[in-house]
Amino acid sequence: MIPYGKHYLDEDDIAAVTEVLRSGWITQGPKIPELESVVASYVESKFAVAVSSGTTALHLAYLAAGLDAESKVVTSNNTFVASANCVRYGGGTPIFCDIDPHTLNLSPDCFEEIVRNEPNINGVIPVHFGGVPCDMEAISELAKKNGISVIEDASHAFGATYRDGSKVGNCKFSVMTVFSLHPVKGVTAGEGGIITTNSEEIYDHLLSLRSHGICKGNFDIPGISEPGDDLIYQEEAIEDGKLNPWYYEMQELGYNYRITDIQCALVLSQLNKLDRFLERRREIANLYDNLLEGVKHLTLTQTGSREFSSNHIYVIRIDYQAIGKSRAQVMRLLSAKGIGTQVHYIPVTRHPYYNNLGYDSSHYPESEKYYRQALTIPLYYGLTNEEVEDVVISLKEVLTQN
Ligand SMILES: *Cc1c(COP(=O)(O)O)cnc(C)c1O
Repeated sequence: MIPYGKHYLDEDDIAAVTEVLRSGWITQGPKIPELESVVASYVESKFAVAVSSGTTALHLAYLAAGLDAESKVVTSNNTFVASANCVRYGGGTPIFCDIDPHTLNLSPDCFEEIVRNEPNINGVIPVHFGGVPCDMEAISELAKKNGISVIEDASHAFGATYRDGSKVGNCKFSVMTVFSLHPVKGVTAGEGGIITTNSEEIYDHLLSLRSHGICKGNFDIPGISEPGDDLIYQEEAIEDGKLNPWYYEMQELGYNYRITDIQCALVLSQLNKLDRFLERRREIANLYDNLLEGVKHLTLTQTGSREFSSNHIYVIRIDYQAIGKSRAQVMRLLSAKGIGTQVHYIPVTRHPYYNNLGYDSSHYPESEKYYRQALTIPLYYGLTNEEVEDVVISLKEVLTQN
């Protein structure tokens, strides 16, 4: 069976994890700051904070951006539910934005319309769908003018570049960027996530929120940094000008969203292969483009973006009505030929949870039209050219056979 996506692990990855297990550190050791520094220098951000998942990364980014239960936050209707759920974790109101049918990303025009009609939008979470960066120039300019915080959901986009060639995650267009390290994403930790930012204040806040809001002298204890303030705490914390050995204080409500050294060692090893991963994914996407061009009732998506994209998934659109088969039938016929497919994504507003909150997916016609036709076909590092050709032959058979 050829799945639609798959992680890649080699002996180096296994050795890296084994080494950590033998080192005495299992969690909160040296691999976490090492990963953070490697990622920050790769994307050219000032800071990076590694956490337990992309979802918890989004939750912390929401809080660290100062968004709260009063906030209205725009995100794409064509994304994984986590992009919107982080707004709900914070008690805020997600506002869904329709997509551009060519990029499949949040449409800057729809975003502009939302901003025009809805006063007091506080945040926007653009999602780089499939690894294709959103039009961040347009989005960030509009956000800046309206006092809107930008958090990029770059779960698909590790290694992707903006149009100016700089790396997604450098936060030149946003206050924070979030990556996922789930096995189906570009590089994996098993489970994990990373937040990048250029703000030291936000960086400190993320460290606090990641671990219960507890300070053990790992960041500023107000009583120490500003003598005279918080005298009660200071007396408890300090003797002879030094922090007492047992002392820690919880300064705000945080979480246990920590990642482990074991997971970080795996990502560090995966990152050694990142260039190979990206290059091969790009090759496969280009190969599909060539082999599928002009196939009747099939439309390619996101073409013209392969060079910028991390090519996380390969999505085609099929006119199921015209071929006289439902999507379920096509998926089952392909599966019988050993080919796995998936749909990215069911519009978030279609899910019962969001439906029950009053969202209506018919208000997002491009997301709906796209969803009706979408199919993700196999794309991953280990996929061979022969397998790509197999997929194409099988797909053509399924589209034409009666
Ligand atoms: C995978 C994904 C997430 C969540 O990441 P996890 O690491 O699985 O928690 C968020 N947003 C998007 C767009 C994703 O694809």
